[in-house]
Amino acid sequence: MMKKQYDYVLVGGGLFAGTFAYFATKKGKKCLVIEKRNKLGGNLYCEDVEGIHVHKYGAHIFHTSNRKVWDFVNSLVEFNRYTNSPVANYKGEIYNMPFNMNTFSKMWGVATPKEAKAIIDEQKSAIKGEPKNLEEQAISLVGEDIYRKLIKGYTEKQWGRDCKDLPSFIIKRLPVRYTYDNNYFNDLYQGIPIGGYNVLIEALFDGCDVKLNTDYNQDRETYNALGQKVIYTGALDALYDFCYGPLEYRSLRFESEVLDEENYQGVAVVNYTDRETPYTRVIEHKHFEFGTQTKTVITREYPAEWEEGMEYYYPVNDEKNQELYQKYRKKADEEEKILLGGRLAEYKYYDMDKVIESAFQLVEKELQ
Ligand code: FAD
Ligand code: UDP
Repeated sequence: MMKKQYDYVLVGGGLFAGTFAYFATKKGKKCLVIEKRNKLGGNLYCEDVEGIHVHKYGAHIFHTSNRKVWDFVNSLVEFNRYTNSPVANYKGEIYNMPFNMNTFSKMWGVATPKEAKAIIDEQKSAIKGEPKNLEEQAISLVGEDIYRKLIKGYTEKQWGRDCKDLPSFIIKRLPVRYTYDNNYFNDLYQGIPIGGYNVLIEALFDGCDVKLNTDYNQDRETYNALGQKVIYTGALDALYDFCYGPLEYRSLRFESEVLDEENYQGVAVVNYTDRETPYTRVIEHKHFEFGTQTKTVITREYPAEWEEGMEYYYPVNDEKNQELYQKYRKKADEEEKILLGGRLAEYKYYDMDKVIESAFQLVEKELQ
């Protein structure tokens, strides 16, 4: 077979493709990146507004317990000491997140873990046996009051579904702690790249050829012909022209505003947990990097059902969609030339560190 122009054609310029590209380039492989947007970075991309890095596709906080992943990203860019400690606003009442002694104390006026446990134990006694859905899981973790004020409204807005129809794992992402600790994550390492995520992205794709504003699925044959192998990080149903029907996603709409004040909400993330406020959270981007600019940029995040032309944000990991995904996956596993990776192609609710871990595995298989 004639040697192709590229060893790898990478479809998508996000973190998965970037991690793979970094190691491939280091090994002397030639990579071409095809990205349908007009810039690289995938969900991590930030725009500079008033000297503030605005997280264009949702707030991103890097956190991991994997030392190899942490060392890898730190070898490319230094991270700051940002610790995510969002605040929940329920009809003007302010609670610390995640669920911890500060939350319990504000909710019930308790002071000790024993007092908080007693209330939660009493409130969760209504749930018998293994929790069957998100509602039961939430009540059995933190009791009825917190479920009603801080979880139900937010979750039903976010997912557009009743909490009884959602899988319990979604809520298990959040820590529940009987200590006065507002750190949103349990991971060992956490921070934001100094200089913003774009610094990381540039380092990852250094040495690659890049074709922007190009949708691979519009002309697969041409791009396949350019490379020995294709690493596809787009949506799997799109790769097969939705032949079994579309997979479902939740989407988001962001509304950003520049405000002529220095500090709007005193914290990077405020969750609006009532059902009536149409947005789920307000992000004040400068606080991710301890910004001291005279202006500030805020973004309201509105959940939305995915429709043609919108960005895919979250896979809907219910049974129906998992089954459909498996059908597509079976087709993809028969391909010799195309390898899959990342949150869209794997249809997984992946954090950044997990995406890097998954790319490491492909690097092991492909490049060793
Ligand atoms: P993506 O970043 O989606 O990259 C895929 C790229 O492929 C995109 O640029 C897309 O335009 C391109 N593409 C798709 N189809 C095609 C095609 N046909 N042709 C050409 N290009 C194509 N993780 C954390 O660890 N911490 C957080 O705080 C965090 N916050 C998040 C907040 C939100 C709102 C969301 C949605 C996710 C968050 N994540 C967070 C998860 C994080 O965004 C992902 O783990 C990560 O971005 C996945 O990288 P990826 O390369 O798999 O996918
Ligand atoms: N959640 C909630 N109230 C909050 C924050 C989160 O009920 O104030 C629930 C909601 O169901 C959400 C899940 O916890 O989908 C996971 O939250 P996380 O912040 O991890 O979501 P992400 O940042 O990935 O959107």
